Amino acid sequence: MELTVNTPLTQLPGIGEARGKKLEKLGLRQAGDFLHFFPKNYEDRRKVWTIRTAPLEGKCCIRALAAQTPVLSRVRGGLELVRVQVVDDSGSLWLTFFNQSYVQRAIQPGEEYIFYGAVEQMGSRRSMTNPVFERADRQSVTGSIIPIYPLTAGISNHLMLQLARQTVPLCARQVRETLPASIRREHQLAGAEYACRTVHFPPSFEELEVARRRLCFEELFCLSLGLSLLRGRRQDCSGAALPPACLEDFTALLPFPPTQAQLRVFGEIDADLSQSRPMNRLVQGDVGSGKTAVAAYAAWRAIQGGYQAALMAPTEVLAAQHANSLNTLLEPAGIRVGLFLGSSTAKEKREARKALAAGEIQLAIGTHALLSEGVEFQNLALVVADEQHRFGVGQRSALAEKAKTPPHVLVMSATPIPRTLALIVYGDLDVSVIDQLPPGRTPVKTYVVGEDKRTRMYNFVQKLVAEGRQAYLVCPAVEGEEEQNLKSVKAYAQELQTNIFPHLRVGLLHGKMRPKEKDRVMSAFAAGELQILVSTTVIEVGVDVPNAALMVVENAERFGLSQLHQLRGRVGRGGHESFCVLVTASRNPDSLARLRTLASTTDGFRIAEEDLKLRGPGDFFGSRQHGLPQLKVADFSGDMRVLRQAQDAAQALLAQDRNLSRPEHAPLLERVRELFSETPGIFN
Ligand code: ADP
Ligand code: MG
Repeated sequence: MELTVNTPLTQLPGIGEARGKKLEKLGLRQAGDFLHFFPKNYEDRRKVWTIRTAPLEGKCCIRALAAQTPVLSRVRGGLELVRVQVVDDSGSLWLTFFNQSYVQRAIQPGEEYIFYGAVEQMGSRRSMTNPVFERADRQSVTGSIIPIYPLTAGISNHLMLQLARQTVPLCARQVRETLPASIRREHQLAGAEYACRTVHFPPSFEELEVARRRLCFEELFCLSLGLSLLRGRRQDCSGAALPPACLEDFTALLPFPPTQAQLRVFGEIDADLSQSRPMNRLVQGDVGSGKTAVAAYAAWRAIQGGYQAALMAPTEVLAAQHANSLNTLLEPAGIRVGLFLGSSTAKEKREARKALAAGEIQLAIGTHALLSEGVEFQNLALVVADEQHRFGVGQRSALAEKAKTPPHVLVMSATPIPRTLALIVYGDLDVSVIDQLPPGRTPVKTYVVGEDKRTRMYNFVQKLVAEGRQAYLVCPAVEGEEEQNLKSVKAYAQELQTNIFPHLRVGLLHGKMRPKEKDRVMSAFAAGELQILVSTTVIEVGVDVPNAALMVVENAERFGLSQLHQLRGRVGRGGHESFCVLVTASRNPDSLARLRTLASTTDGFRIAEEDLKLRGPGDFFGSRQHGLPQLKVADFSGDMRVLRQAQDAAQALLAQDRNLSRPEHAPLLERVRELFSETPGIFN
């Protein structure tokens, strides 16, 4: 049979319907699919050891002779055991196989085999459990670096290896070179064919690295190109260009002079808004850097131009807080703010909707309730999403659809993304960074303490409250255990109120509360009527009470670093010396190291990079990854440099060929489309 890239795998020997189905789960249908299917790991099975010299760490290959006929026995629970002793000049090795009765016949006494597995030692006796083995004179799964593939139930690596051996040479011969020769030369990248072959069957780890680097580069290069093309396309669609406005008119409304960083971002927004090409900008600023003022500026600017603006917040607490502060700020400019919450009464909703549709409310602030049917704008020109990691791209665009022409979009995030990742994580957004905090902030002092310091911690709370400050005490929520969480946070608040701080006023805030109640508690805390606020993480984002000077986090090891940084950002906002106490009973060195990182820095970007290093990119590429292609090779742990090179190269290429329309770039364009093909619609 002539094998081509289109040959269904089910036509290969040993692959029936059933296996074919299972392979499909891995995305493998035809021979050519191995072009984009990569090993997830490799095992070095090149070196062969003697029994005595074999290392006790990791797995290794041993060449030895079967000294006896394997013995099959059955033990409790129907478990089958095959045992056999093998020998070489240096000693003997006992092998045990579980539930692989075929081994009894497969290993012949007097024959020599290579065994690959982990050697264990008990006293002077060495043994191996479930090794991979084959006859020493026909090595196929030992003697080289073996690729380990992603697997699924019923598909062994052995089978995958056989398939790869049949299909990869063919795929490699047929693979198209997408990278322009000049770019390959400049960045010293291997050719496509070599990379394809080598990534499956590397003769050495050095060569594997060369191949991987090329594939990584290609993937990130195509991703950058794709995102830039998307951005370019936005250039061609048109919305409302806003007339110029006088910046001083806005700054006169602010109770403080803006920081240099805020002014710079005002400028960037200003430039975007004066063009008809809709703005699509992300403002990244650490907690407390003053993003609300930036949102206010954008809204003010749109409203000055005669349009309406909308601000979407992830929680009702936050939406209400924004409505409050923006109302105070913008009312003197004659701007009317409306609040849109799911929990508003029918009458409130009706009236707000009417005023909005009539253009009497110029700034609509709310939760996803803003997206409800019946919420209509007269002339929406700007959408601001606060703390965007809580929103999907979908929700953002649902709001945008309420505008007659594509509105300007401003997204604000306090989750610092390492700069190198921002472009990828935020797709086709332009990025502004507020890299400066308002003056007069003293960094929050952070301590990691064990359970043994609990009494001291309570005393500390007491002391700060006596000085007139307020404190947050936050408990973690365990996913999927809402009932339990609720109980524990309620019990904790109760305990504090009755036994620890009977003379103080302790409030409780949790996600299951009715929005009105939440609002009441939050307002009471903001007004200083409550001195201690016990809370789940509903206060994580955005809440602003300047008199709060202490954040205590219980079971701190359960939180991610960036999340803890967010929580810590709730204090240190009012010029009072502020503190964050991370309480943990954990003795896990990794957890403690993580918490100490937080204690050692207040730089959100550094913390994000640390988080990235510790937890891997999954956190950044997790569920908030909407509409971006899945990367197959690049994993970012070691590929940051390649990412930057690929991004630069993509920009340079687009500078010459804006739409990749030159014939010599056709294979590249096709590859870019392919990469984005799993996110249908994005490239139409
Ligand atoms: P975030 O970026 O976390 O959303 P906020 O917008 O809530 O930060 O601002 C945090 C605090 O800093 C608020 O109390 C706000 O009034 C204050 N603030 C913002 N900008 C300035 C500034 N330029 N000078 C002084 N205080 C500022
Ligand atoms: Mg904020």
